[in-house]
Amino acid sequence: MKTIIRGARVLTLDAGDRDIPRATVTIDDDTIVAVDTDDRYEPGDREIDATGCLLMPGLVNAHFHSSANHLKGSLDSLPLEIFMLFETPAEGTRDDARAAYVSTLLGAIEMLKSGVTSVLDDAFFVPAPSPSAIDAIMQAYADSGMRASVALDQPNVPEIDKLPFLEGLLPPALLARARAPAPMDAAGLLTCYRHLLDRWHGAAGGRLRAAVSCSAPQRVTVEYFRALDALSQQHHLPFFVHVLETKLQRVLGEEKFGGSLVRYVHGLGLLSDRMNIIHAVWVDEHDMDLIAASGAVVAHNPISNLRLGSGVMPFRELMNRGIPICLGSDEAITDDAINMWNVAKLAGLVHNLNGGDYARWPRADEVLQCLIRGGARAMRLPRPVGQVAVGHQADLILVDLDTLPFTPLNDLRRQLVYCEQGTSVRMTMVAGRVVYEHGAVVGVDEPKLRAEARDIAAKSALAAASEASGAAEWLPYYREMYMQAAVRDVGLQRWMGNSK
Ligand SMILES: [Zn+2]
Repeated sequence: MKTIIRGARVLTLDAGDRDIPRATVTIDDDTIVAVDTDDRYEPGDREIDATGCLLMPGLVNAHFHSSANHLKGSLDSLPLEIFMLFETPAEGTRDDARAAYVSTLLGAIEMLKSGVTSVLDDAFFVPAPSPSAIDAIMQAYADSGMRASVALDQPNVPEIDKLPFLEGLLPPALLARARAPAPMDAAGLLTCYRHLLDRWHGAAGGRLRAAVSCSAPQRVTVEYFRALDALSQQHHLPFFVHVLETKLQRVLGEEKFGGSLVRYVHGLGLLSDRMNIIHAVWVDEHDMDLIAASGAVVAHNPISNLRLGSGVMPFRELMNRGIPICLGSDEAITDDAINMWNVAKLAGLVHNLNGGDYARWPRADEVLQCLIRGGARAMRLPRPVGQVAVGHQADLILVDLDTLPFTPLNDLRRQLVYCEQGTSVRMTMVAGRVVYEHGAVVGVDEPKLRAEARDIAAKSALAAASEASGAAEWLPYYREMYMQAAVRDVGLQRWMGNSK
């Protein structure tokens, strides 16, 4: 069956980046087969009257951790290394497959309703992944109708190896606990990957895919890092790696890895065009040259970087080297809204603080390219998304132009980036199937889901509170570690002004 979308203004985001005042887009099954002005119709075709709307490719959330979907607003702003102390306890709910399903679906529908058609989910598990938890997450994406590429973000080294200075700071009892092995070893994690690949890679008509993740270079053994790279190479999977998100990680590189963590990964021979380098805030010039030469994509999470006070990524320096940039919301405690329009807006604004030469500031059209084409590039799909173009998969949204964000309509691209917040999205289509319309995600009873999410949260609140008090015993030592790194001169600055 064909679907014909008629009467829309169309922003193609293809090579010509065309803005067509009125066009007809024809979709055969899951693929766009025509973008023209023909009035064709055959009996049995589904017609969508899109008069007054903009048709454009769906948004891509290129960095996300569904594991924290139920934790939005849980914490005040804290630096990453302190934040992670307190984030972990409330994750107990992830042991429960139903809770994992509910929270994953909650995030998926929040994204679909605002026009996000694809997500790259770096799912983590506390204490460790299991086939049932993996199935719960993937089933939620299957049921939501969303396109998702999911990795297992799991360290396999003791806590002490991931951070600087702790050997000299922790009292003996805590030091012993920090040296304890990770909850699951490489063999166990690779078995979980095997399950993810066998059961879910290519499922739901190709909508669901596996990715791989080492979380961060300092969080895994070299052997496991290499095994993940081999998996990524064998199946052409995106490889998620958090790199130099914080100043402390730059200091960690100096202390334990002989220099920058980018150089460390390069030295292992693992920097590749399959890599999705997440954050890249505290990268130096040489790091950026190495990333550019590798062909890797950088995932920019500007709201998360502000929420955790990580710093500001060198946007123009990356762009000038031709490094593809995609945008992500990161997890729902570091960008509590799960709203890619907000992410795009901040990506369009925060870099204006990087200096007075306004020719280097991001333009709205560049931000849109990062948001959609950068994200599509990061997914490494066998059949492309991200353009309204013949041969592309029909991951499309309709944006109502008769709304306040677009009234009056002065400049479409700027108003998409600076005005829209997702409230004008009227329809979301993934792989040719309408998954959101008339204010509801198709096939999901949202009020019931919200009620269940509240019940689950109420049950886990007590456990979370008692474990949070456990985190407090680590806090003075982590604060000292953090401050030692914060005041070090690392030869570059990604915080504003004279902050230390
Ligand atoms: Zn992340």
